[in-house]
Amino acid sequence: MQANDNDPSLLDASASPADDGVTPTRTDAAQIIGDAEHFSMLEAIGQSTTDLIAIIDAQGLVVYGNPIAQKVFGVTIEDAAGTQARLYLHPDDLEKNLRFFAEVIQTPGTSARQEIRTLSPSGDVRQLEVVCTNLLNDPSIHGIIINGRDVTEQNEYLTRLQAVEERFRLAFEENMAPMSFADADDHILAVNDAFCEMVGFSRAELMGQDSTPFTYPDDIGLTEATHQRVMSGEADHVRYVKRYLRKDGQVIEVEVSRSPARDADDNILYFVFSERDITEERKLTAQLSHQALFDSITGLANRSLMETQLTKARASVKRRGGLNALFLLDLDDFKGVNDTQGHLIGDELLIGVARRFEAVTRPADTLCRFGGDEFLYLAEGLESISDVQGVARRLLAALETPFHFLDIAIAIEQHATVGVVVWGADDSDDIDLLQNADVALYEAKRHHRGSFALYEPSMHEEASHRFMLIQELRNSLAQGELELYFQPIVRLPDARVVGFEGLIRWYHPKRGWVPPSEFIPLAERSELIIDIGVLAIESAVAAASAWSRESPDAEAPFVCVNLSAKQFHSSNLVPLIEAALEFHQLPASKLVLEITEGVAIFNFGETMNTLSRLERIGVGVALDDFGTGFSSLSYLAKINPRIIKVDQSFVQLASASPRDATLLEAIVTLGLNLNVTMLAEGVETSDQFVRLVGLGCALAQGYLFSPAVPNSQASEMVDRDFGAQVADVAWDFSNTHPTTR
Ligand code: C2E
Ligand code: CA
Ligand code: CA
Repeated sequence: MQANDNDPSLLDASASPADDGVTPTRTDAAQIIGDAEHFSMLEAIGQSTTDLIAIIDAQGLVVYGNPIAQKVFGVTIEDAAGTQARLYLHPDDLEKNLRFFAEVIQTPGTSARQEIRTLSPSGDVRQLEVVCTNLLNDPSIHGIIINGRDVTEQNEYLTRLQAVEERFRLAFEENMAPMSFADADDHILAVNDAFCEMVGFSRAELMGQDSTPFTYPDDIGLTEATHQRVMSGEADHVRYVKRYLRKDGQVIEVEVSRSPARDADDNILYFVFSERDITEERKLTAQLSHQALFDSITGLANRSLMETQLTKARASVKRRGGLNALFLLDLDDFKGVNDTQGHLIGDELLIGVARRFEAVTRPADTLCRFGGDEFLYLAEGLESISDVQGVARRLLAALETPFHFLDIAIAIEQHATVGVVVWGADDSDDIDLLQNADVALYEAKRHHRGSFALYEPSMHEEASHRFMLIQELRNSLAQGELELYFQPIVRLPDARVVGFEGLIRWYHPKRGWVPPSEFIPLAERSELIIDIGVLAIESAVAAASAWSRESPDAEAPFVCVNLSAKQFHSSNLVPLIEAALEFHQLPASKLVLEITEGVAIFNFGETMNTLSRLERIGVGVALDDFGTGFSSLSYLAKINPRIIKVDQSFVQLASASPRDATLLEAIVTLGLNLNVTMLAEGVETSDQFVRLVGLGCALAQGYLFSPAVPNSQASEMVDRDFGAQVADVAWDFSNTHPTTR
């Protein structure tokens, strides 16, 4: 058969092998090839090569296929010989491939390369890279030699690789984390947008550079060192923190992770850098650790820094000798300022106090805001106790001038009380400095506010005594060993009992009677005072209710209950009182609450609020111990008490000197002018009684009539008059001071 070079029908894609009717055999192939010797040589090559070798004739019919070709096309050569080669081409790109073959067939002597896809009868698709050589004019071949290589796997691999590369490229370019590649000499090969943004340079400015131009000068050495460490094999992957100098001049801190990529021989090909700007994070950490050591309002050291300094101070006094002193400063009535002026002024005041303390202390020593309104000052290396006292005086003096704030017109007085503990090289490490300073502070306060006290071991004994006492008080309260006694209040001048003051009594099984002056201040430092208050209110209301039932005809007596600051300012005071009145069916007008000026002024806004609620329900207020507190007339007018109780000191002093007598007179007259019922406390003698009657004092109370007695005895006094007891005096009085009453 002769090849017809130009017969396009041979390449007609629609032609089918069945139409052809010819099925060539190997003998045909040998015939086409023309030369048996050539054929067997070709066959030998075809058998041994890993390439695909096939031969088609000018009509595109299969003449020969080596074993690889038979495998790829999925047919034996016996079946394939004489069939149309296009049958084995994939229909999807058949046209393109037919055109390729047609071109080769039409131009004898040419050779062309093409990638083709084949489809075997069983549906197997392969990709081949083929080189087709037109040897139609070669008498020994007379055909088109197709030499192909199966690249299916390789292509798949490449496609996969491309996908991986694409994913990687995206991961790199779109990564939020700044990333870069650099060659083995640290010259930048690629950077992502985040990297450019971080350092403020464009990609073009960065490419080919090493990081030196935008590294903070001090950290260039560090960068080189890490490069060296990996290059030398000392480390494989390194992380370090370095500073960059951005294009805009800003210095940033960055955490860098440097990993090398190596070839099969372990040579470093390039470096991959992944970085993180930690500038803000570092700032925050620094801020937090500052906050962890310093007080946020005053900027002074805080408790935890003070503890560290104390530990150091304890160690250093052992080495250096001398004295160390710890001053615990407690602001007097700071809470009052906070409540009346608001927290902003309160904070400003704390800052003001801190600055004043700073001005009179050594910067090398530690000044700390211990919390609330307490400050601590640790002074090291003092030489004598008189040094310590000097420091305490300086600290107190620093607060002598009142504080002025721009936003409020008034000047604020703020004083402090100081407890000091002093220790030296010989003292034990076990001393609880803070506790001792606190004990000394307590003593100083007891002495008088605005003073200082140095800790002495005897104070500690007192402190532990107090501690024990409070435990015992707690137990006694729980066991009902506290009882409210009642001291009669008489009216003047006939000394008839018109009311009682409830006074708490504690009989301790071992200690005997414990005076209220000893346990009330203790209870006030704990929550026990609230329980005592509940007991007092409950007992007083119950008793007054019983008295009024027992003597229905007479005007029933009222009852006074002492309230301490904590109780008066506790939110459930009013509900508690209402419940007691309701339960015992006592008219509110029969209950009077005794508060001191200190209690009222302490938290004035809240006080006024509580007072108006009490007034609404009809409960009266008595101002206790009048004359011993601030006695500010403006406060007095605002509190507007039903009764003013003149402190017993005025009553008792009045008999001693004319000057004191004038003082008593002035106080009683003041009350009368304000239209408040005046009550004189601590009336012990007829003389005092007479004087009070003369001054026009309305009520009196004191041992002259009766001390506080248990409820059972008090009941018997209801309606009684002590006139006989004071009869002769009253007689004297009526002779000298006629009265209209
Ligand atoms: P206070 O309210 O000024 O009570 C009057 C104190 O003077 C009472 O002392 C009373 O026994 C005493 N006294 C009465 N008449 C005379 C007298 O003629 N001469 C002298 N020298 N003293 C007289 P007491 O009972 O020892 O109470 C002391 C303080 O304890 C009270 O002072 C009061 O502040 C507080 N207190 C007593 N009971 C309670 C209570 O139930 N609750 C609260 N919060 N405090 C109470
Ligand atoms: Ca009282
Ligand atoms: Ca009193």
